[in-house]
Amino acid sequence: MLAPDLAENVGSAGWFCGLSLLVGLIALAIMFWPRFAPLEAAPLVSLDEASLVEFRAQSLRSLSTGSTQGRHFAETDAVIRLAAAPERPEIRLSATIGENDSLPRMLQRAGVGSGDAEQVAAMVASTVPLSDIAPGTRFAITLGSRSNASDPRPLLSIGFRPRFDLALSISRQGGGLALARKAIAIDVTPLRVQGLVGSSLYRSARAAGAPPSAVQDYLRAIDQALPFEEIAPTDTFDLVVSYKHAADGAGEAGDLLYAGVLRSGQPRAQLLRWGPDGSFTSLADLAGGGQADTGLFGAPVAGHVTSGFGMRRHPILGYVRMHSGIDFAASWGSPIYAATDGRVQYVGWHGGHGNYVRLDHGGGIATGYGHMSRIAVAPGMMVRRGQIIGYVGSTGLSTGAHLHYEVYRGGQAVDPLSVRMVQRRQAVDPKQVAAFKARLQALLSVRPGAVLGAQR
Ligand SMILES: [Zn+2]
Repeated sequence: MLAPDLAENVGSAGWFCGLSLLVGLIALAIMFWPRFAPLEAAPLVSLDEASLVEFRAQSLRSLSTGSTQGRHFAETDAVIRLAAAPERPEIRLSATIGENDSLPRMLQRAGVGSGDAEQVAAMVASTVPLSDIAPGTRFAITLGSRSNASDPRPLLSIGFRPRFDLALSISRQGGGLALARKAIAIDVTPLRVQGLVGSSLYRSARAAGAPPSAVQDYLRAIDQALPFEEIAPTDTFDLVVSYKHAADGAGEAGDLLYAGVLRSGQPRAQLLRWGPDGSFTSLADLAGGGQADTGLFGAPVAGHVTSGFGMRRHPILGYVRMHSGIDFAASWGSPIYAATDGRVQYVGWHGGHGNYVRLDHGGGIATGYGHMSRIAVAPGMMVRRGQIIGYVGSTGLSTGAHLHYEVYRGGQAVDPLSVRMVQRRQAVDPKQVAAFKARLQALLSVRPGAVLGAQR
């Protein structure tokens, strides 16, 4: 009765009853429609205009950010206006000479009159050539008071350091300017910096106080003696830098003189700046032949020999042919080391050898390394015995990761296991060796100073 079908008995009393119920229910639904208008909250503090002005006058905000705070007062009779602000009796300033700058120009920029500037330049030039004053040199200038506001301030004094060991000062005495030179005592004891390698050799050395250029030279020097992979965080870096300590506290670092790495107090690498081109040399380099011990070739990889030299059935080609080297079993990615010191002669794809490196050791001796997954040297590079030249792989004609290693004598492949070659030694100059040892001793006697300029 309350819910009749509105499609039937249209116009009957029951139909109208049903229709009014429907309309009523729709109206009820619309009445409960939620309001989505934002809620309004009452302001935290309500201010009228007068309170707002007072409020702003007491708030703090800088004038530069457009503050309108504060009260402004009109001046009263107590205020006496001055015609001009009084001058400071003297002005002290610091000026720097720039690139392509001149001393008189720099002085005039600082406010020195042209007469004084020319006079100062002439006085300085009588002691030090003006062109010797390096750009960036700082000048301490004091200017005095003037009688007339349109005149430049007179120069009272100027002091600077044209050279590391010389200070010049010019001051007004009586009527004129007088120049005084003062030599600065210089101590040239080199600076020695030592510390643990830690996670970053560069950062540790910088943190220990080594100048950046010295650290870069150090890394370059060490790189030629010791692969970086072999330096442990617990090793100690040791470097000596030429250094000038001035008596007035200034310091100036120069070239790196010595680069060393220590493990448990024992030197692992010791290099000196040696030779006219400033290159670094170790005692072993100087005495000739890098390795002065047995003269045997080092093993090219950590692994055992799985296939010897000679005729054998090739595992892939399936027929008997000459195996011109020996095979070492080693897992993929193991480092491959140079058998001995030499120059990289060939790098790249080499037929069945895949990625291949050949080293020339001089005297007609060469070694070859095949099937590498990755090559770590470039043609022409000098490598040391034990230096990583690449990584084990399975490129070329290979059934699995291994190292194919060859030794050539006069261009002919020979059995690497038969090689017991004594390394050729260069002529040794005993005077050079003695000089090297003396210099090393002298530098290693320098007491390590932790922070630049801190030790005197
Ligand atoms: Zn092989």
